[in-house]
Amino acid sequence: MIAIGVPAEGKDEPRIGLTPETVKKLVKAGAKVTVRSGAGLRSHFSDQDYTDAGAQVAKSDADAVADADVVFTVRRPELSLAKAMKKGAALIGMLDPFSDAEGLDALAKTGVALFAMELMPRITRAQSMDVLSSQSNLAGYKAVVDASAAFERALPMMMTAAGTVPAARVFIMGVGVAGLQAIATARRLGAIVTATDVRPAVKEQVASLGAKFIAVEDEEFKQAETAGGYAKEMSDEYKKKQAALIADHVKNQDIVITTALIPGRPAPKLISKAMIESMKPGSIIVDLAAERGGNTELTKPGEIAEHKGVRIFGLLNLPGQVPVNASSLYAKNLQAFIDPFIDKEKKTLAIDWDDELAKGTVIARDGTIVNAMVAERLGGKAGGAAKADPKPARAARAPTKTGPAKSAANGKAKAPAKRNGAQRQPKGGKTT
Ligand code: NAD
Repeated sequence: MIAIGVPAEGKDEPRIGLTPETVKKLVKAGAKVTVRSGAGLRSHFSDQDYTDAGAQVAKSDADAVADADVVFTVRRPELSLAKAMKKGAALIGMLDPFSDAEGLDALAKTGVALFAMELMPRITRAQSMDVLSSQSNLAGYKAVVDASAAFERALPMMMTAAGTVPAARVFIMGVGVAGLQAIATARRLGAIVTATDVRPAVKEQVASLGAKFIAVEDEEFKQAETAGGYAKEMSDEYKKKQAALIADHVKNQDIVITTALIPGRPAPKLISKAMIESMKPGSIIVDLAAERGGNTELTKPGEIAEHKGVRIFGLLNLPGQVPVNASSLYAKNLQAFIDPFIDKEKKTLAIDWDDELAKGTVIARDGTIVNAMVAERLGGKAGGAAKADPKPARAARAPTKTGPAKSAANGKAKAPAKRNGAQRQPKGGKTT
């Protein structure tokens, strides 16, 4: 019988890796699930909810994971948790693969197989497992709700006997998963919404949500989307034209939500200090790119900065502020991922290491880092990189603060490993 363990998360993480609903499904599929007592409380799932769903409740994290073949977490856990696990068991979560080299290497050395859900290939088959999408969608929603709560005026137009309240103007920069949800939420609240992106594909999506699309639509714009559906880094000439357009637009906006990201690059700086100074006091910016350096010049990750009456929210982990929904969707992502690796007859774990989903997400196995990009970003500190895939599907998510610069700085960076047959790029079709 396959055993699944769920420990409690750290104090800053209200989400949990499995919900009672997903426990029920896994138990039905033949799994034995053990959840650490109290682990679901911050998502409002009680121990009783878990036992009613068929799980067992353990007194400690070590007890929850000791016999597990698979452990589900939200964040990268402490080393002690991996040490409490069986050698060869799978640890699956958002393991933040491109930061804290030593920490990740130590985790790998316990012999636990590490799977980073952030690296899930963006192919049709993996849509239900895409944690970045499920969590970004909620972040886009929460960004608008937070902005409207902090904004000291109303969002919708109201015509009253005492006079008319004008509708607020909301500008969304970057129309990926988070941006689309931000547009939809701001429209529902009655704001006048405009949006921009460098990918032409989003123009229709913006219009279909009732917002106006604005962008520098030159020849470069027409080529700005990669085959993977992500944005490219734009030329300096384009950036200048874009900055002029944005400067002109931003000064009339009440709320700006920025979500712009480029695969493997720092978040583009789209809003300068001068642009912020052109906005009316009381305006709000929510920068969802804060974790990757921010889209504005004044973003302070983890803080609310204020400049000449304009507040810039650089808050991190917005999905964690909607933990009930975020845990529910995240747990479904994990369950969808593990389901094909459960032998339904023998009711045992049967990971197909040649499957593109396993290959795309596994970062360490048998004590060794097996993803070359992770190894390279770790500055060559991890062993075994030479056999791994130099281009994981989600290179997009490599953060910048702890990336190649750090590797170069310690002078130990290895050249990317050569690709071998067993670690080829996933080939599935992209969908949007
Ligand atoms: P992301 O988080 O990588 O980036 C957010 C947005 O910022 C993107 O739309 C990007 O084009 C935009 N951006 C980058 N640089 C910019 C700039 N200088 N100015 C303005 N905007 C800029 O994006 P995402 O949310 O991961 O989505 C990327 C694409 O992948 C979307 O088309 C989405 O629909 C698609 N997608 C596909 C799947 C799947 O097939 N399984 C799943 C999720 C998303």
